[in-house]
Formats: sequence, C-alpha cells, structure tokens
Amino acid sequence: MKTKLLADCAADLLDAAKLLREGQVVGIPTETVYGLAADACNEEAIQQIFSAKGRPADNPLIVHIAKTQQLAEIAASVPSLAQKLANAFWPGPLTMILPKHHQIPTITSGGLDTVGVRMPSHPAARALILLSGVPLAAPSANRSGYPSPTTAAHVMNDMQGKIAAVLDGGTCNVGVESTVIAFENEDTVRILRPGYVTEAMLRNVVPNVILDPAILQQLPQGQIVRSPGMKYQHYAPRAHVTLVKGSQEAFHSFVRQHVATDVYVLVFDEQDKIPDVSCLVYGATGEEQAQLVFSKLRELDDLGAKQVFVHAPNPNGVGLAVYNRLIRAAGFEVIQV
Ligand code: AMP
Ligand code: MG
Repeated sequence: MKTKLLADCAADLLDAAKLLREGQVVGIPTETVYGLAADACNEEAIQQIFSAKGRPADNPLIVHIAKTQQLAEIAASVPSLAQKLANAFWPGPLTMILPKHHQIPTITSGGLDTVGVRMPSHPAARALILLSGVPLAAPSANRSGYPSPTTAAHVMNDMQGKIAAVLDGGTCNVGVESTVIAFENEDTVRILRPGYVTEAMLRNVVPNVILDPAILQQLPQGQIVRSPGMKYQHYAPRAHVTLVKGSQEAFHSFVRQHVATDVYVLVFDEQDKIPDVSCLVYGATGEEQAQLVFSKLRELDDLGAKQVFVHAPNPNGVGLAVYNRLIRAAGFEVIQV
C-alpha cells in the first residue's frame, strides 16, 4: 500500500472522510498529537490500527467525538461529574474513562469494559468525525514505543506503506497527548495520564483530584496498572536518553564530564546551552516544552545521537505531562545532580 499525503487539509477533508467511512486507517491532525484514526465500531479497521502501530492488543484506543450527543453512543452511562467536565473542557485535550456502550467492540477498548472518550478541538479532526459520520478511534500515530508525531511528516516517516493516507493539518499546538482521567466516585477523579489539562484546572471543577502513582514512577512488577499504556516502554527515540535533574550550574558541570561525539543535550533555552556541546532547545515553559519535546526527540535520531542528556523539566502544571513522557523515553533513568 502506498500512503497518500493529503497536503491540502481543507480540500482533502472529503477524501479523508471517504477513506474512513470505507474502513481505512488515516493519520489525522488533532490539537494534541497526530492520531491514527479509523471507525471505532469497525473491528477490521481497528485491527489495522493495532497492526500498523505494532500496538499490544491490551492497550485500548481513545474514541473521538464531535458532538456531545455522540457520548451516549460510546458510553453506557455518563456520571453528572463527567457531564460537568465535558462542559468545562470539551472540545479540548481531556479524555474521560467511562463504562463502555455495547456498540463499541472490545478490540477498541483493549478487552476492557470501559472506554476512553474525547472531543478534540482541532477543526480538521472535528470536521472528519462529522463528515465520516462515525466516532473515530485514534491512538497516537507513531510506531508503538517511539515518540508521538506532531507533524504530518512524522506520521509519514512511521506509517509509510502501512495506512491509506495522512491528512496534513500543520504542527500540533499542544504537542503532548490528552489528560486521561477515570472516575473514583461522584466527586473524585484520578489522573491516569497528565496532559495539557492540569490538576489545578481540574480542581476548578472537581472537588477531589488524585494523581495516579504510575505517572511519576515505574510501578513494581505485578502491580495492577489502571491505564494499560503506562506499563509499556514509550516515547523513546533510538538514542539512549537520560533525564538529569538539577540546577543549571549542576547540570552543566555534569554534562561537561560526559562530553563525547554522539552525545547530545536537550536544554531549556539559549542560556541553558553549553559551549562546545551539541545542544537542542526544547523550551523554557511547560507549554513550550510540551509543544517541542517529541519533535526534538525525533530530531536527535535524525542527527545520529547515541546518548542524550535532557535537563529535566519542572514537573508542575503542563510540565508534569512533559516530565511523564521524558521519564518513559528515558526508561526511568533519572539522575539527580
Ligand atoms: P494513545 O493511544 O497513545 O493516545 O494512548 C491512550 C492512553 O489512554 C493509553 O495510555 C491507554 O492505556 C489509555 N486508555 C485508553 N482507554 C482506556 C481505558 N478504557 N482505561 C484505562 N486507560 C485507557
Ligand atoms: Mg501513544
């Protein structure tokens, strides 16, 4: 199969929607990262997503909707807190785990009786859901385990020959995947995966917010992981990544002791660069870092980096999402200097 690049987002929307209706897989832009989309109710199409990504069958897909009314076709029941959260954050980067409607095949939910639902804000994603007339299951459009894609070129790089088409909607604004939450009771939610919607933002709507322990550390073997995606090696480039926590001074002195060819460094800004060391800037704020982190990890592979030292982000606000992706990219190798 030759993967078509649909380069004119507005003009090519109808073609992309037709492919989706026919049960094909299409790489689509969203405000978070590019998704690998297919009709959430078409089991053969969903199987193609798992094959194209090389994704383990027990790692569920998020279902994307464009109208609140569609929620009743995806979820068997919607708690009033979920409705309040939808009003506050949709369309936007928040995924809610809800009891699965029988219409959604278990292959889509990775065998679980729950399903993740989100309403994206990207105009092309919304238009595609409406034009195709079906809810779209869409995981991130990377090869399983590799950094998520934030441009159509990233998707072409990973998916050439494996899917029907990629719709180019430009660079993703948010840059990291959605915040995923589950409901504990009528006034408590648990963050399973941090994203652009932060704990503080959720607290404006929800009385109690719990951070799942798997966000910041590797859980001991055998412990049940509430979000299956959290147990897999993820977001990692080919280069060996090490996360280095500490002040600018301590970080610079650590890096100077480890300079070699093929050693690269990801830093916050121009001031954080180290003379005579190959440095790439990935942002000084959580928002900037979220937007750049995956493309910088991919760029490091293109440059032939073997070892990468990343100056660890401040794990607050949106920075928590960046930190969560980077510790996984680093296989939990974190050094405090
Ligand atoms: P991605 O497909 O890369 O956007 O990742 C989706 C994330 O949402 C993964 O970490 C999944 O494990 C998680 N997820 C999706 N559906 C569920 C569900 N029903 N229960 C728990 N986690 C889910
Ligand atoms: Mg993913």
